[in-house]
Amino acid sequence: MNPPFPPSDHFDGRVFRNPRQHVNRSWGDVLRWKLQAKPTPWPETVPVTPADPLRGPLAVTAVGHASFVVDLGGTVLLTDPVWSDRVSPVSWYGPKRVQAPGVSFARLPRIDAILLSHDHYDHCDLPTLARLAAGGVSRVITPLANGDLLREAGFPREAIVELDWWQSTTLPGAVEVTVTPAQHWSNRATGVRNGRLWGGFMVRSGARSFFFAGDTAANDALFSEIRSRAGEPDLAAIPIGAYEPRWFMAGQHCNPAEAVTVHRVLGARRSIGMHWGTFQLTDEGRDEPVHALARALSDHGLEPRVFSALEAGTGLIA
Ligand code: ZN
Ligand code: ZN
Repeated sequence: MNPPFPPSDHFDGRVFRNPRQHVNRSWGDVLRWKLQAKPTPWPETVPVTPADPLRGPLAVTAVGHASFVVDLGGTVLLTDPVWSDRVSPVSWYGPKRVQAPGVSFARLPRIDAILLSHDHYDHCDLPTLARLAAGGVSRVITPLANGDLLREAGFPREAIVELDWWQSTTLPGAVEVTVTPAQHWSNRATGVRNGRLWGGFMVRSGARSFFFAGDTAANDALFSEIRSRAGEPDLAAIPIGAYEPRWFMAGQHCNPAEAVTVHRVLGARRSIGMHWGTFQLTDEGRDEPVHALARALSDHGLEPRVFSALEAGTGLIA
């Protein structure tokens, strides 16, 4: 689909918005955060033992941040692939990786499709996408208006499937991918702020389902709508990192306690925590999301295995 897209409750003909609760942070807010910030320092490096991706009817392996290799009975998906050292407009400045990718690029299996949630640099990494395009990955599924970035990365037009919220596409092997809403925003160094749509994905293969939340704030109405329209997932990847300070972040990123609420509202059988431990984007310490997640699970009377913060280079078969 090419722009212009038809106006909707989340598109005014020029930019996208969150229909339920839209927060726009100004450069003044960014300045206030950075002037007040007391970020907890992260370690410079964290050891990782790269793994070969797990295979199975529903198997995920964590590469780091929001990148996962997902196997659904032989159909292999890659979410928000980032193998670069930094996530910023330039290669020499910006948040730097503290741990190597948990799957080495050379050990990737044949990828049937990439799921790209939105245009932020920590999710949409053009150098990695260019390597995948050159390697022959022939399908990328993404919310509306992200296609220009994928064409820039070298994907041919016919490889790019741009979908609005709630639209679906079917991959060979009868795997159905639906783009779901998220409460977030979009922006890169150039272009229009919120000019590209953001979202998550519900993936179904036979009786198995995997949900990838993308970047999102917690919002009960949003996640109960996803549950009622797209079903309860067997496994959900939910962000648990990049949440401090709350006055700035709460409208766009959930914290671990809110992530447990998302897990419950969604009715996920199991969840995994993502978006932590690889790039320091915000003020909390590297391992704080893991501890806060453990506390939140205990507060809800949930077993730790129900919602695990996967370290890069580890995975699980759900
Ligand atoms: Zn984002
Ligand atoms: Zn992010």
